[in-house]
Amino acid sequence: MTTLVDLRSDTLTRPTEAMRRAMSRAEVGDDVFGEDPTVLTLQERVADLLGHEAALFTPTGSMANVLAVRALVGPGEEVLCEESAHIARAELGAHGAFTGLTMRTWRHPRGGVDLEAVARMFAPDLGPYFVRTRAISVENTHNFAGGTVLPLADLDALRRFATEQGVGVHLDGARIWHASVATGTPLAEYGARADVLAVCLSKGLGAPVGSLVVGPADAIAETRVWRKRMGGGMRQVGILAAAGLHALDHHVERLADDHRRARRLAEACGLDSEGVETNIVLVEREDAADFVAAAEAEGVRVSRVGPRTVRLVTHLDVDDEAVERAAVVLGRLCREG
Ligand SMILES: *Cc1c(COP(=O)(O)O)cnc(C)c1O
Repeated sequence: MTTLVDLRSDTLTRPTEAMRRAMSRAEVGDDVFGEDPTVLTLQERVADLLGHEAALFTPTGSMANVLAVRALVGPGEEVLCEESAHIARAELGAHGAFTGLTMRTWRHPRGGVDLEAVARMFAPDLGPYFVRTRAISVENTHNFAGGTVLPLADLDALRRFATEQGVGVHLDGARIWHASVATGTPLAEYGARADVLAVCLSKGLGAPVGSLVVGPADAIAETRVWRKRMGGGMRQVGILAAAGLHALDHHVERLADDHRRARRLAEACGLDSEGVETNIVLVEREDAADFVAAAEAEGVRVSRVGPRTVRLVTHLDVDDEAVERAAVVLGRLCREG
């Protein structure tokens, strides 16, 4: 029997042998004391890549987002974001539950910025009657819109608006690496357009654990306190940071392979592969649940991310041979449609 091709998520990757070796050799210390050299190296490296002063290692991307948004927005204040943003849909209300902030959303078919809607919703300090907007959040690439890349020009316009209004920009860059590789845009260009970012090492980059909050030194110092308060202070965590450093050395440029494979799957499903910008393909099906079950029965795992939306994600553990096998199965199921 051939093995399953698992396209449910790019979080499914297992650390490579080389990554495990790097982890086993990591120099470590107590990171709550700020004394883990490998964590310090990773934090500096990621801050540098994004052109910011400082970064902080966190166990998950959700925690990184909660901490990053809270650096800009306090209790009883609001953040504006796109309606299918990960922070709104997939963090189980953490921002409301922990920070006590509220969210209002705009709608954009590709998960992008609708500056007119933002301007319409935007509430500066209108006195003690209205919730005050303190930040605008964007996601790049956008997960539930199908791995779409935010155009730099839209980020520029948002940056100008936010600066004029004196509010912050949060960028959920869980897959910022994919945006950078797909467009050739240096990471620092994205970094320059946000006040605070969250980035993940455990998605396409293939590390087992780890995300970072990236931003100004004073905000990151405060974020460190909140991370500990939330129970996210970790000790000899250089073992995990080493996986992240290895991923940055070896698993960024190869994302282009994942993007090519995603386009291949889109073609097999009869979709316009031009619309697939990175490693995520969305297939709209009335019978999404049955489609997922039928694919599974034929050895291809895909996931359902909405009542009628099936998601395929390519990643480090899916090679060309596996993609071809999946293309045959999914192509047939799509045609049966
Ligand atoms: C996965 C993801 C996160 C973080 O998720 P965790 O599972 O908490 O690490 C944040 N934003 C986006 C867009 C994601 O896809």
